[in-house]
Amino acid sequence: MYSEKVMDHFTHPRNVGEIENPDGVGEVGNAKCGDIMRMYLKIEGDVIEDVKFKTFGCGSAIASSSMATELIKGKTIEEAMALTNKAVAEALDGLPPVKMHCSVLAEQAIKSALLDYSKKHNVVIPGLEDLNFDDEDHHDLIEND
Ligand SMILES: [Zn+2]
Repeated sequence: MYSEKVMDHFTHPRNVGEIENPDGVGEVGNAKCGDIMRMYLKIEGDVIEDVKFKTFGCGSAIASSSMATELIKGKTIEEAMALTNKAVAEALDGLPPVKMHCSVLAEQAIKSALLDYSKKHNVVIPGLEDLNFDDEDHHDLIEND
């Protein structure tokens, strides 16, 4: 049911913890699994120098947040904004369809942390304006193809 990569990131998650004085923090949750994900960003210029996360949730949520942090570490804000939940799931060699919403959480946690950064530092990040992190909208973000 779960790929080796999912199991690997679940049993040995990368970048777990928190960052002191982060430039941005985002917290999102979903009602389906009761997953709560908190993402911390250290941003230098427009590069994500460091990223850490704390996830209370199911194995897929932990694996998704671990993989997502690896995918955005050292990348630019623009590249992090372009990261979709689908890309996270693909990097994990797939998630079971019923667990795709857990990867959505990883995408939203990053965007939520970037939103926090943009507010605190008065930086405009294109694409963040009309994001809504209410739980009801989670399903709409899941691509079903
Ligand atoms: Zn979950």
